[in-house]
Amino acid sequence: MSAKKQYFDEPIVRIGIEDARFPRICPICGMTADHPARIWASPKERENPRYNQTAKARILSKGAKTLLVYVCEDHYQSDDGLGNSRLVCTLGNGIMISLLVFAILIAGSDLWSGRPINNVFYLVVLSFLLVVGLSVFTFNPGPLASSIKVIGFDIGFQNMWLQFKRSDYRERFVEENAMRAELVSWIAKL
Ligand SMILES: [Zn+2]
Repeated sequence: MSAKKQYFDEPIVRIGIEDARFPRICPICGMTADHPARIWASPKERENPRYNQTAKARILSKGAKTLLVYVCEDHYQSDDGLGNSRLVCTLGNGIMISLLVFAILIAGSDLWSGRPINNVFYLVVLSFLLVVGLSVFTFNPGPLASSIKVIGFDIGFQNMWLQFKRSDYRERFVEENAMRAELVSWIAKL
């Protein structure tokens, strides 16, 4: 296995997963924050250079870790609502894919027997694109997720690397997690 280094222009922070204490300022705008919000620290292959199968199994057995952060009044949004709309999208996608397959089959048999394609086919295709578009929008990470990014975990799932959009937030974070947090400018990719 060859290790490749990934460099960051601004330093990122390495911290124990259980140790991280997030400062009471908003990671999006830097204002005073007292609304708790959650970030899901579930590793995705694309965003997690230290991802491997063993670690994945361990994480799955522990369940994805949620990080408790604080955001300001303006950036506070209940993520329960978002969870529901994600569920609806997932269900919607499933139904639409079945409908699409069905519509393609019917359109195929129409073509085969020389009939014009039924308008319902176009309707199904259109709704499919609509649902997919909506899902992309719903699953798109909000401002919170882009202000604090979980870059990855170590193999033992003990430490994680966090990237903060705001440098003042990063400084506060390192200050409040003194002795536990470490600034790093590169990580090894497996
Ligand atoms: Zn804010």
